[in-house]
Amino acid sequence: MRSLLTKGSDVSSVNHRFYLGLRQIIQATFKYFIIATLHYGWAAETLAESFFDKDFYHKAYGIPKEQAYDHYNQKGAQLGNRPNHWLDISAETTGAETPLLQYARQSTQKLEQVCAKAWDFIVAGAGFAGSTVARHFADAGYSVLVIDKRPYVGGNAHDLYDEHGVLIHLHGPHIFHTNSKDVLEFLSRFTTWRFYEHRVRSVVDIADGKTYPMPINRTTLNELYGLDLKTPEECQEYLDSVKVPCTEIRNSEDVVLSLVGSDLCDKFFRNYTAKQWGGLDLKDLSPEVLRRIPTRTNTDDRYFADTYQMMPADGYTAMFKRMLDHPGITTLCGYDYLSVQNSLSCGHLIFTGAIDSFFNYQFGPLPYRSLRFEFEHLPETSHYQEVGTVNYPNNYDFTRITEFKHLTGQVHAGTTLLREYPTDVNAEREPLYPVLSAENNEALQRYQVLAVSREDVTFIGRLAEFKYYNMDQVTDAALRKAGEILQKKKKITEEV
Ligand SMILES: Cc1cc2nc3c(=O)[nH]c(=O)nc-3n(C[C@H](O)[C@H](O)[C@H](O)COP(=O)(O)OP(=O)(O)OC[C@H]3O[C@@H](n4cnc5c(N)ncnc54)[C@H](O)[C@@H]3O)c2cc1C
Repeated sequence: MRSLLTKGSDVSSVNHRFYLGLRQIIQATFKYFIIATLHYGWAAETLAESFFDKDFYHKAYGIPKEQAYDHYNQKGAQLGNRPNHWLDISAETTGAETPLLQYARQSTQKLEQVCAKAWDFIVAGAGFAGSTVARHFADAGYSVLVIDKRPYVGGNAHDLYDEHGVLIHLHGPHIFHTNSKDVLEFLSRFTTWRFYEHRVRSVVDIADGKTYPMPINRTTLNELYGLDLKTPEECQEYLDSVKVPCTEIRNSEDVVLSLVGSDLCDKFFRNYTAKQWGGLDLKDLSPEVLRRIPTRTNTDDRYFADTYQMMPADGYTAMFKRMLDHPGITTLCGYDYLSVQNSLSCGHLIFTGAIDSFFNYQFGPLPYRSLRFEFEHLPETSHYQEVGTVNYPNNYDFTRITEFKHLTGQVHAGTTLLREYPTDVNAEREPLYPVLSAENNEALQRYQVLAVSREDVTFIGRLAEFKYYNMDQVTDAALRKAGEILQKKKKITEEV
């Protein structure tokens, strides 16, 4: 956002900026088209659902129209979700320039409308953080533009039906759990729920293939070591006998050793951590990373212990669509805010993308980890594994397998699995997990100082705050921040 415009600003300067922006976009679109044609033969860029040509897709691929958009995104995920080239279908397409050209034409039309308006708020990112604040502002009577660089809403929680008709989570399994009644009440305005308690088991060694409850509980210890611990007290006594006393908790290794000792640490955590964090040892990670995983002395084998554990009855995407369905909200998907910011104007910006990207990486990129998602559909298979997720800490390059039907309760003749392969962030892999370590703190703090100095912008969310937020935590933070912003706005209006 280059400058702050309020309603009634000089129309000719708005128009001038709008035309400059539009020209840039048209030029960029055609430049991209030529590059894509030269390099890939054919590559379709990210398409927002509203711009998506279902008829064309149906004719080109024979996919039923109602499944076309989900199929398109599923393909994009299989091909790596490369940021600006979601779909490279060169081998499969014939005469396929229609969607791209249609996209260029329709998107410039929509941009034209969006750029011509001075918004009360612009929200970059349509995940939990962005959608929550957007709805809060719209409910209070403000005009809000929500813009997301992906072609759909929901952020990392986006779900869709794959080409076999199974509901999957495109960016990894997302299980909703919370202790906050406020968060639950807010989200319940946009969805009903299906009761679901997530369970995870761990294969310590594929040679025997046995699975054990994770987080570690009394059953884990009894089954793994052939013990007969009958009470929480006996279990605690055992853990006390194996734990490594630690006077100061400096890192994640200290957290684990001081709770369960070295054998359990090596079997369940050390290699999983190395895979997940690109070779980092537990010692290299700040305590909060592993503090999230509890150890239990009872036999509770639920992964989470929160009061409310459930899944949106018809999926996350449906919930987000309802949240953003408000006359005060306009949603523009498929655009990177940072690329079009000079053509937009608003009273206040909420940025939910990566904080280092907003400041053009001037103190260097903050470290994130990413994942490669490998989906596999098994036809005529009711269920593949006994629980929603099975961890493989010590074998394979992937960390875990999730079977979505456990999470969603969907009835289907086949089943779809997801294997997650941790990777570095690169042109093809988006930042997913902030790497929290003492070393990164300095750069983060410098970005945070810059963020505070920008009174016209509020940074909210996992990437914007470089924090390990769960979905409920980020919703809670967004609700509170939105309330504070509205209070401030009200005060200024009253003073004027
Ligand atoms: C693999 C995985 C599994 C998870 N599982 C769970 C779980 O089981 N339970 C749980 O509670 N939490 C889980 N989480 C955490 C959950 O994903 C986050 O708490 C939540 O998505 C954070 O919401 P957000 O809005 O901050 O960020 P995001 O969901 O990342 O949304 C940010 C949005 O901003 C957009 N954006 C970024 N930059 C720009 C830009 N420049 N212009 C326009 N748009 C932009 C992105 O495209 C994205 O859509 C998981 C996370 C991961 C990675």
